[in-house]
Amino acid sequence: MPVQYLPGVGPRLAAVYKRLGVVTVSDLLHHFPHRYEFEHSERPIAEIGAEQVVTARGEVGATRVAGMGRKARFEANLIDPTGRLHLTWFNSAFLRKRIHPGMTLRIQGKTKKYGSYMQVVNPKWEVIDPEAPAGERSERYRPVYPASEDLSSEQIDKTIQPILDEATALIEDHLAESYRKQRSIPELAEALRLVHRPEGEDDVKRARRRLALDELLLLQLGIALKRRQLRQHSDAVAINTADAVDEHIIARFPFQLTSDQRGVIEEIRKDLASTTPMNRLLQGDVGSGKTVVALYAMLAAVASGAQAALMAPTEILAEQHYFTVTEMLEGSRVRIELLTAALGAAERKSILDRLASGDIDLVIGTHALLSKPVAFHRLGVLVIDEQHRFGVHQRAELRIRTEMNSGVVPHTLVMTATPIPRTLSLTLFGDLDVSTIKGLPPGRSPIATRVVVPGKSREVYEYVAGRIADKHEQAYIVLPAIDEASGGGLKDVRSHLKQLEEGWFEGLRLAPIHGRLKRETRERIMHRFRAGQIDALVATTVIEVGVDVPNASIMIVEHAERFGLSQLHQLRGRVGRGSTKSLCVFIGEATTEDGKARLDAIASTGDGFEIAERDFEIRGMGEIFGPRQSGSTSLRVADLRTDMALLNLARRDARQWIEDDPGLTKPTNALLRRRLMEQHGEGLGIADVG
Ligand code: ADP
Ligand code: MG
Repeated sequence: MPVQYLPGVGPRLAAVYKRLGVVTVSDLLHHFPHRYEFEHSERPIAEIGAEQVVTARGEVGATRVAGMGRKARFEANLIDPTGRLHLTWFNSAFLRKRIHPGMTLRIQGKTKKYGSYMQVVNPKWEVIDPEAPAGERSERYRPVYPASEDLSSEQIDKTIQPILDEATALIEDHLAESYRKQRSIPELAEALRLVHRPEGEDDVKRARRRLALDELLLLQLGIALKRRQLRQHSDAVAINTADAVDEHIIARFPFQLTSDQRGVIEEIRKDLASTTPMNRLLQGDVGSGKTVVALYAMLAAVASGAQAALMAPTEILAEQHYFTVTEMLEGSRVRIELLTAALGAAERKSILDRLASGDIDLVIGTHALLSKPVAFHRLGVLVIDEQHRFGVHQRAELRIRTEMNSGVVPHTLVMTATPIPRTLSLTLFGDLDVSTIKGLPPGRSPIATRVVVPGKSREVYEYVAGRIADKHEQAYIVLPAIDEASGGGLKDVRSHLKQLEEGWFEGLRLAPIHGRLKRETRERIMHRFRAGQIDALVATTVIEVGVDVPNASIMIVEHAERFGLSQLHQLRGRVGRGSTKSLCVFIGEATTEDGKARLDAIASTGDGFEIAERDFEIRGMGEIFGPRQSGSTSLRVADLRTDMALLNLARRDARQWIEDDPGLTKPTNALLRRRLMEQHGEGLGIADVG
């Protein structure tokens, strides 16, 4: 039923409600308070103390407007037989037309001691009949609703309260009683009553838990359904991961796998053996050793006569992967190629032809792999490295395209070092299984991190120059811009390189790295850096992701206050890859609160998960929901920052649910299915085929 027909609403107010997203009574019940206040019963003014939220009534004494124009404030005295309160409304000169001496007002607000008298600033007020009985003596825990200028929280409260019992009595619960018992959550109707009319904080908590779990559960069920539908309609190549193959692959690796790496590989082996396409997210901090895990999956595919592809977000990273993989596979028969936008037309065509005919086993590339004509002969495994650098859409596109082009769905492994927020949103929306590498490979020594102000630059560079000269360490110097023209007043690679060469780093071998260098130049420089023929790379953030040169043990980041927290962590992850004690210096001076929070955070922890959480806190929820997600989230109660435990519970329960009733077609699940489709059918693209 439209709210328009509720007592006291009507067409005008209904239009205002609509702007808050409330059209029906059901919407109204789901218009949740964003906080609660203790409403005290009316008290004689003499009994009122400072710093309390109070309700009082009295007669208006003298009034006045103080100050000028729109900024003027309106002041009034409120007098009862026991004493006097001083009321002030800022920017409210217009009140002089509405509040007059002699009126009786009931006001509510927070008191402050101001000199000798008690003051209430910007109190809520209403004119009342002087003969009206005093408000009920009982105190109330009152909801405060998201409101608008034309519709106050009180008005919303007045609309909801009289219909609350009647309306909630009509609500059927889509969660069975047995489930509610198991999870100790109240019935839906009860939860909604508690939200709008709690007796205290405990009621709110109880209601909140039910509603949050409900939201997360519906979402997870939606994802589980979606996953099932995807899998029903597409087959992947089953990949042989017998022990003989396993031994063969492992023998190629130049080190012993850690137990985390081994564990993840076991999970992947299981996935690959099936014709159900793998869709797995591998998360692990920078430097945790994700690449070999990916390589394992790819080589398993190749050993089974299928192809494998690895997609990286930057050319430098693709080139590096190509380099590492070629080296590891030296002398094997695996045919590997590198496909990036930097290729000439003829070379490119040749690679594409051989991919289509199956004459290439393993291709490594950038998003050039996405471009239209790439058709695989038989793509078995697709790895997307540093997936957070690719947009959701690109990822989806890649998946669809490879499906179309090769007739089979590849087993997909996406890798990231940024667990939250993007991973979280993927876990929520991307129907992924998640594997985690927790520890770092052995033999790493922790990175010393310093944050210093620009005034200390000389000391930093002189110290670093000393370490390079004495101990043959190598360094990265990172700047926010390539040249002066693009720098906008910030330090840039070209000028800084020149300055260092002529000053603090005189005599050291320096080279630039940035996105505008030609591929051959960049490859040559990276090669020489790896070989120890360059002492320091002066670079933009192109080196941010994935670059792996174990002997590089020093990093300096200029204008550090300008980078995001996760980005700083990624940058720092370029060092600390060998056994030398590494150093990372962030030069910067924060001018904003957030900037300061970021620098504090990066200095105080080296743990990627913690960094990600802090980043999440600093940037807030807003950013975790990309364009696609925001429309379909409908998370109003659940807060992903604090409800991780509930989210995990919902995930587990949803899986169980789908196992018991794969299509949610049992009659007992009919209502649940309907609510689910209403909420997520469109957003998740779930076909309602029953
Ligand atoms: P990331 O997870 O950031 O992609 P990489 O895969 O680049 O990390 O690995 C970082 C470094 O650790 C590389 O130099 C790699 O050779 C090395 N590494 C990976 N696994 C191990 C291991 N089990 N033992 C020793 N070194 C390892
Ligand atoms: Mg990597």
